[in-house]
Amino acid sequence: MRLILLGPPGCGKGTQAKTLCRDVSAEHVGTGDLLRDAIRRETPAGIEARREVEAGHLVPDEVVNLLISERFSRQDRPSRFVMDGYPRTLPQAHAFDKILTGVGLALNGVVMMEVRDEVIVQRVSGRWSCPKFGCKATYHIDSNPPARPGICSDCGTGLVQRADDAPATVRERLVIYHRDTEPLVPHYEKAGILIRVNGEGDIGAVGDAIRRSLAARGLL
Ligand code: ADP
Ligand code: ZN
Repeated sequence: MRLILLGPPGCGKGTQAKTLCRDVSAEHVGTGDLLRDAIRRETPAGIEARREVEAGHLVPDEVVNLLISERFSRQDRPSRFVMDGYPRTLPQAHAFDKILTGVGLALNGVVMMEVRDEVIVQRVSGRWSCPKFGCKATYHIDSNPPARPGICSDCGTGLVQRADDAPATVRERLVIYHRDTEPLVPHYEKAGILIRVNGEGDIGAVGDAIRRSLAARGLL
């Protein structure tokens, strides 16, 4: 299975990607971990990305694309994956199409998780994340609390609340999402692989809805 999870920041992509990947043994590909790994390995994308981050800039499309391209050029490239947070702009979507074509892999589906802005703001303000490399667990004080307060249930690391999860910052990210990421919807709709899912139920209900839509298309 080769999927992209698409949706606003905080809609639950990371939460769903994590369990879905566990169930179908696919690789959970997020740019955050790839970025940290590339910086550690000092790959061309890593060196470039570190320069941007240290200058206080966002990592530009070309660098993120190079990062993904490096991951998919390696011998151990994932043949089954769930993309979480990439692509997030049309230039990235076009680059990803090319990268996959180049290695002979086709996308099976793009799951669009639909959640309204107000619901996002509420969810994200209660988010606690595990900072451990590769863990990717996130929690919510009300809807998905860790077993022990402040401690990752998966790996025991102390949880952190990200500075960019403050409500005003979340609203800014939502504006950017509507402007830069939403245009991916018609792009994948034209390709005939867009799958719309209501992302506003609880975590289990959204997971069930995703699995039902995948099963209906013969992907599960
Ligand atoms: P994304 O990866 O899309 O940014 P996350 O998976 O990190 O989103 O989820 C954002 C926050 O919302 C987290 O605190 C998470 O625990 C919580 N969350 C995820 N899915 C749901 C849901 N269906 N209902 C309520 N809270 C959720
Ligand atoms: Zn953890």
